Amino acid sequence: MRNAAQFDVVVAGAGLPGLALAIAAARSGLAVALADAAPICAPEYDPATYDLRVYATSPGSAGFLRAIGAWQALPRERVTAIEAMHIEGDAGAALDFSAYDLGERALAWIVEERALRAALVECAHSAGVAAFGGSPFVGLSFSATAAELTLGGSEAAAAASVGVVLSARLLVGADGLRSWVRRAAGITPEPRAYGQTGVVANFACERAHHGVARQWFRADGSVLAWLPLPGRRISIVWSAPDGLAADLMALAPDAFALRVAEAGGHALGALTPISGCAGFPLALLRLPSTVAHRLALVGDAAHGVHPLAGQGVNLGFGDALVLAQVLAERGPVADPGAPVLLERYARRRAEPVLAMQGVTDGLARLFGARQPWLAAVRNAGLAAVDRMPFLKRALAQPALR
Ligand SMILES: Cc1cc2nc3c(=O)[nH]c(=O)nc-3n(C[C@H](O)[C@H](O)[C@H](O)COP(=O)(O)OP(=O)(O)OC[C@H]3O[C@@H](n4cnc5c(N)ncnc54)[C@H](O)[C@@H]3O)c2cc1C
Repeated sequence: MRNAAQFDVVVAGAGLPGLALAIAAARSGLAVALADAAPICAPEYDPATYDLRVYATSPGSAGFLRAIGAWQALPRERVTAIEAMHIEGDAGAALDFSAYDLGERALAWIVEERALRAALVECAHSAGVAAFGGSPFVGLSFSATAAELTLGGSEAAAAASVGVVLSARLLVGADGLRSWVRRAAGITPEPRAYGQTGVVANFACERAHHGVARQWFRADGSVLAWLPLPGRRISIVWSAPDGLAADLMALAPDAFALRVAEAGGHALGALTPISGCAGFPLALLRLPSTVAHRLALVGDAAHGVHPLAGQGVNLGFGDALVLAQVLAERGPVADPGAPVLLERYARRRAEPVLAMQGVTDGLARLFGARQPWLAAVRNAGLAAVDRMPFLKRALAQPALR
């Protein structure tokens, strides 16, 4: 019989939502462990470069990150406000959102993953979260009162079939879209591939972007987004059918830059590559339930969304915020893994997640379809929404949360 280290909550997966949840739960007085196959440390990087992974962080997520101390730890000069957004359909219709019209300082803030990670890791250490980095998950079992997660680690430990065991009243699966925890707990289904890849890259641009994010729904079924980085730089996500994505990634850097500039109608003049490019396969994941006995799922482990609205990590931060609130406000319920709390968490997250999945999946399908009559309908729809300020405001609200 192995000795297990005892915690109130074990968070399995130290992506950004997992880190945020661990901090918030530890700040409310719970004993929290955080485990990940990768080291849990601030990434080292050359400040002259920009991360390929950037997030459009919503005002709601920024508020949560501020509450746990991470937002104010970000280097100001690396955070860019999206002041306005211009969306174009594949037949010339356009839709514009402005932070000013919606009464917000920014529609979202563009932040690099590595900067956010560094800030969150620092906060996790100061909040007293016990970190188990470099520990792939190798075993999971549940009893009536606890979940036990076994961590692999050194080759010697693996050869001797021993590992560190973390025991908790509540296990949180925060280990991404292809969650090991979700599978080990027998929760199905698995993610369904869109047959699309998100190609990301960074460019210097000839003209100033003035804090405007741009997005094009293209006739070839792809969606191209330009997000403002500090100075005259942008980060792009080109969500393209797999074949087109492979062709784009095979281009020489200058040819790719020209292709991106052309696809955006040279809106910012010439583009110059300042990074390589990377591709992320896109998938939809809808689960019937995100909780089970002694288990809650957060982040991509709980839901996969198309990145066209830039909302994946925001949904994950929303999960972390709500689960931390439910745990902090549990009143006379001493057990953080009590079914009543897990049901409360699942109920409060069901509607916002379903709504965001409905919008992003619906748009991905509507603009991915090739029938000519649909092109007319979707472009007429965009133009109509643009003329209706109240509808625009209603559509923008979920993305601001
Ligand atoms: C191209 C693209 C662009 C995007 N742009 C945006 C955007 O602008 N805004 C936005 O909000 N979202 C965006 N997203 C979505 C966002 O990237 C994800 O929603 C977010 O990263 C999910 O975080 P997570 O922690 O749930 O999962 P992950 O980031 O995948 O983290 C999971 C963690 O679990 C660990 N792990 C996994 N398996 C194991 C195991 N077996 N053992 C131990 N550890 C394990 C991993 O090491 C990792 O640290 C984008 C996504 C893509 C693909």
